Amino acid sequence: MFVSHLQKIIIFCDFDGTITDSDNIINIMRYYHPPGWETIKDDILAGRISIRNGVGRMFGLLPASWREEITHYAIKQATIRPGFDKFIQYCQEHNIRLLITSGGIDFFVYPILSSFSVPRQDIYCNSSDFSSEHIQIHWPYSCDAQCSMDCGMCKPSILRSHSNIDTIKIVIGDSITDLAAAKMADLVIARDFLLQKCQEHSLPYKEFVTFYDVIEILKEFTN
Ligand code: MG
Ligand code: ZN
Repeated sequence: MFVSHLQKIIIFCDFDGTITDSDNIINIMRYYHPPGWETIKDDILAGRISIRNGVGRMFGLLPASWREEITHYAIKQATIRPGFDKFIQYCQEHNIRLLITSGGIDFFVYPILSSFSVPRQDIYCNSSDFSSEHIQIHWPYSCDAQCSMDCGMCKPSILRSHSNIDTIKIVIGDSITDLAAAKMADLVIARDFLLQKCQEHSLPYKEFVTFYDVIEILKEFTN
């Protein structure tokens, strides 16, 4: 990949399992273990139901009155992948636009990211509503007319809305939920299941474990 000085790099970085070590929604569900959540999770993973449908239903199993307790747990259990702060700094110093594109929920995504210098408007995630008996999830960034996957937080739509001829799109992610966006990217920086999928689909990719690795990969294009 050659980057000319006229081109602008935009990074679309996943949150769960990418910025954090593991998937926060799964961790929350495992911990509170509401009856029926595992069936819903299996249906999502097998592609029998959409992510929006499944995630909405899983949170619908939890009482809204547990808000404080669940929020506290979600923040406490999250571990940030090493080098994330340095990665943000690197992007800022090299005029790389960094967007966080998360299928996670605002009540844990915002607080976990609050100690890092990422502006709120550059964080895309789903939102939560605790005003009814059970937790309801809202989807401010759902699929555009060109996506029919019922994503919930639609990463391909976000990529499309930020694409033009002068942008180099880099997707960083870990799972099947990043694949559709990865297929639209100029470069994928991948770990775990997404890495396997990049190999299968012959996508241009690099492997990462920590954000220090990501910085090294970016150096090839920015120096
Ligand atoms: Mg992920
Ligand atoms: Zn979509």
